[in-house]
Amino acid sequence: MPENIHTQFHRFLPSAAKERLLGQHGVVAWLAGLSGSGKSTIAAAAERMLHSEGRFTVILDGDNLRSGLNSNLGFTDDDRRENVRRTAEVAKLFAGQGVITLVSLITPREEFRAMAREIVGSGCIEVYVKAPVELCAARDPKGLYRKAAEGGLANFTGRDSGFEEPERANLVLDTAASSVEECAARLVAILRERYAA
Ligand code: ADP
Repeated sequence: MPENIHTQFHRFLPSAAKERLLGQHGVVAWLAGLSGSGKSTIAAAAERMLHSEGRFTVILDGDNLRSGLNSNLGFTDDDRRENVRRTAEVAKLFAGQGVITLVSLITPREEFRAMAREIVGSGCIEVYVKAPVELCAARDPKGLYRKAAEGGLANFTGRDSGFEEPERANLVLDTAASSVEECAARLVAILRERYAA
């Protein structure tokens, strides 16, 4: 803890009081996977399912955060690490208020995912949104694979920046084999074990 920082957590309303108000426990699902693997699509579908069940959620989407909080960060390893650190801290803040928090972020290295788990704590569910890079490139929902192939994008994950397959994921969603609805339903099911506990 830096000098002259005196945290005030103990003076504020405890998480449990807010969780009682919301009728749910805070939890974080951290969706990692290649660009175009389906993280945002699944998070959006899961959020709608949860909303229709009366659950309070937030999505922390990598691209959205990069347009604001993380707009000063690029795609070097150091910047990606900082991107993950900030996102994990924000996720922890939301989950601490009882919110079901869905993070959609490539998170390409085990080191980054370990840091996210460490920051978020025991309420973190790691989800690997899995799809072969060829399929992601064929989908290319944001046109990034085409841009990278044309040389217009440095440090693009799956091309000149690596992606280490998650080996410690609590849930693997294979989007080459399962529909968006199936993947979202599986995500909601594993979340339910925590938020409804
Ligand atoms: P990411 O957030 O991982 O970069 P997106 O969710 O933006 O990826 O894009 C994934 C693309 O793949 C979308 O066009 C989506 O419609 C398509 N898709 C096809 N099957 C699936 C599936 N089972 N799950 C998620 N996305 C899928």
